Amino acid sequence: MAHSLPTLPYAFNALEPHIDALTMEIHSQRHHKAYVDNLNKALDGQADLGSKSIEQLLREIKSVPDSIRQAVINNGGGHANHSLFWTIMAPGAGGKPSGPLADEITKAFGDFAALQAKIKENALGQFGSGWAWLVWDGSKLQVVRRPNQDSPLMEGLVPVLGVDVWEHAYYLKYQNKRADYVDAWWNTVNWANVAERFANAKAGK
Ligand code: MN
Repeated sequence: MAHSLPTLPYAFNALEPHIDALTMEIHSQRHHKAYVDNLNKALDGQADLGSKSIEQLLREIKSVPDSIRQAVINNGGGHANHSLFWTIMAPGAGGKPSGPLADEITKAFGDFAALQAKIKENALGQFGSGWAWLVWDGSKLQVVRRPNQDSPLMEGLVPVLGVDVWEHAYYLKYQNKRADYVDAWWNTVNWANVAERFANAKAGK
């Protein structure tokens, strides 16, 4: 079962003005595609790994042979991270979370503004390329940052929201102003999708 590039659930320009169309096109059709292609290359001939979903591969990263493990971490992580990223954003989205997710955010961070501050701190604190993540650790929500394409799934954490802070995610529009990109990015967050991810994570699905 070869992994495949998911279809973007909206047009390249759908997240404007927050994320520009050219960035979305290059990011999804070239960067994400390269992760998928290189993951498939790494898994070529590994019949026993071929049937695992990308999430399962990352959760069980220790069982991936040494010779291809780093390629799976980089490219499998890249595939999983971006597949999540496209769906936790949507046109006309943003605003605030509600329901059980909002309650859990209040419990973990105090309020939504405190979560936003913590995500920003981690997004800006990530030196070089990486991601800031909101994860479910099995008993509570946490904000973490990870370099490169390292997936929280490898540590048993379930990502429910993540912001890509690789320069390829924002450089065309925001150049060196990562903070401005992160501030604008909140306007794209698809809380319905994040709430569903949170509910599944909490239920252990
Ligand atoms: Mn990216």
